[in-house]
Amino acid sequence: MDGQASTFLLIKIVAFMVGYDAMDTHETFLKLAIEEANKSVRDGQAPFGAVVTKNNKIVAATHNSVVRTCDPTAHAEINVLRKAGKVLNTHNFSGCILYSSCEPCPMCFSAIHWAQMDAIYYAASIEDAKLAGFRELEISNLTMKELGGATLEIYGPMLQEFGRVPFELFVANPDKCLY
Ligand SMILES: [Zn+2]
Repeated sequence: MDGQASTFLLIKIVAFMVGYDAMDTHETFLKLAIEEANKSVRDGQAPFGAVVTKNNKIVAATHNSVVRTCDPTAHAEINVLRKAGKVLNTHNFSGCILYSSCEPCPMCFSAIHWAQMDAIYYAASIEDAKLAGFRELEISNLTMKELGGATLEIYGPMLQEFGRVPFELFVANPDKCLY
């Protein structure tokens, strides 16, 4: 192989690896958000988890705590934004991505918009949350984006089968607290 051909091959390999890594990273962070949701169920909370990243590094990860904290707004996404704000020491989350085990509700979507985040990746859908018994407002993130003119990117459902696991654990729990 001459020099030009080997350089071309090297570029192709690197491009493939970068693409693969990017995909793998999104899925890895999404799985972490789902694991937070599973933890939430074990903690007696609602089955939702979220992660904030910046430059492909985890800034914060946590789950829902509505029941434990008697706070109806303590959704996973709100909790993780509060945690990430303390770590980043700013209210402006540009360059950050939010990964959620489930499509954010309109309240959380609005908070993510206010945070000026770049993108949302979610696993399960609002319909999955509704099927588990939650009183979801049936407004998808895409509808919120279109109606409100939000600029962030939305990717989901992704890994939806994994994303449904926290709901299955929650539904099977006889002591669950729905709201
Ligand atoms: Zn929410």
